Amino acid sequence: MERKKLVIGHLFPDLLNMYSDGGNIITLKNRLLWRDFEVEIREFEKDDVIDFSVLDFVFLGGGSDREQLLACENLKKQQLALKEYIESDGVLLAVCGGYPLLGRSCPLMEEMHEGLSLMDIHTEAGEERVIGNVVISTDITGEEMPVVGFENHSGKTYIGACRPFGRVRYGHGNNSEDGTCGAVYKNVVGTYLHGPLLPKNPRLADELLARALRRKYGEDLSLSPLHDAAEEAAQDYIIKRFLQD
Ligand code: GLN
Repeated sequence: MERKKLVIGHLFPDLLNMYSDGGNIITLKNRLLWRDFEVEIREFEKDDVIDFSVLDFVFLGGGSDREQLLACENLKKQQLALKEYIESDGVLLAVCGGYPLLGRSCPLMEEMHEGLSLMDIHTEAGEERVIGNVVISTDITGEEMPVVGFENHSGKTYIGACRPFGRVRYGHGNNSEDGTCGAVYKNVVGTYLHGPLLPKNPRLADELLARALRRKYGEDLSLSPLHDAAEEAAQDYIIKRFLQD
């Protein structure tokens, strides 16, 4: 029998690759291989034209303002194709620098830029840069669970009609004001959390993979449990360290 397969598009690893963001791709790939799925990673560089119709998962990482701007300029040329991917329930994970680009506006290199307007968020320039560990609580799987990560951003993001990805328990999140962290629209998850995000949060990785498999194969494919003791210990360490009363 042919093995089921996901094609993962890694957008601009030449530009957006901060704080081991590539670790997210390694996690996705291995969690599929360990369960005997096939996986293909396609890397796209800054001037590439992307055929989103063949992708089952898109990952956009973080980077400096200059690199974010280059990524944004490329994606603006392909905004319609990315919009079609998102509106047809394509899974997209956008981490830190990649996240505000999806919204209406984004401050980059001391100037306000138009974003991709793919989700109802907008970002303003903050006066202070926020840097540090973050613990949030999210119900993205249908059950409340913690997610941990690391943030370093000066932009303040405000969400409109989309749902927050989670509630901040420690750290700053979207804007240090309203207690929200990240945003979810359809199968798009945007968040300021790097770290990298998925290796320390395997249940989140599985939720996104399950969504991509459901979209492609039209059924819920079981993702067998994996031995996640090391991943859970890494997550517990951060939770215990920062959520002590
Ligand atoms: N360039 C953005 C900022 O400095 C995002 C950086 C990042 O991806 N961590 O706020």
